[in-house]
Amino acid sequence: MKNGFQLYDTHAHLGLARHSGRRQTAETLLEAMDRHGVDRSMLLPFPVVDDFRREHDGIAEAVRRYPKRFAGAACVYPFVSPEAFRDEIKRCAEELGFRAIKLQPQYQALNPVGTRGDFLYEAAARHRMAVIVHTGSGVPFALPSLYILPARRFPELPIILGHGGGSVYMLETIVAASVCPNIYIELSSLMPHHIADILAHVPSNRLMVGSDLPESMETEMHKMLTMAIPDLAKRDVLWNTAERVFDAPLG
Ligand SMILES: [Zn+2]
Repeated sequence: MKNGFQLYDTHAHLGLARHSGRRQTAETLLEAMDRHGVDRSMLLPFPVVDDFRREHDGIAEAVRRYPKRFAGAACVYPFVSPEAFRDEIKRCAEELGFRAIKLQPQYQALNPVGTRGDFLYEAAARHRMAVIVHTGSGVPFALPSLYILPARRFPELPIILGHGGGSVYMLETIVAASVCPNIYIELSSLMPHHIADILAHVPSNRLMVGSDLPESMETEMHKMLTMAIPDLAKRDVLWNTAERVFDAPLG
């Protein structure tokens, strides 16, 4: 809680990243969350890992220990066998309680335009998970507009454009979210004036905040906390949208 606002960081990483050598533990993340008033974080595996099952088990363990502070997401290299992909997503949903699948096109070149990549969206839809896709660096497959097509093929599936396309492609996220009601935008890495542009076109109940790394947590939360917008809209972006998409009971 910060300045009377609950904060949901929808883009936090936990585990060991093979591409960068970075290791993030639950304890150091919690420390940063406590320091910056973040109530809850969505834990994403890093995109390049030695063993995705082990990374998922690590996230599940953190969620089990701190169920109020953490939610979990899966990230499976999309070119493992179709059975291995399906089985691991099923395990993450049914046994570990994860509510999202992360796709990182910079390291996982799954073409979102053709239907051959639909198995990922099908798996998410089947288990009522959301898809969080990194956008920005990693074009062409990280271009926000390309996700209009899977969003239309899977109209019930929430697709969250991570980093809002970054500064260079943020206008595309506005287009994508404007034409697809199931496209959401996570705002990390954008400049405050970009966020103001997005808010002028996309309803606040489809926006969310993320830090990506603990070092940016304060900056990312501060950007939204200090925006000159009504408190109701702020509450959506800082908490309500994420809670609705990730934590609503499956019923
Ligand atoms: Zn990330």
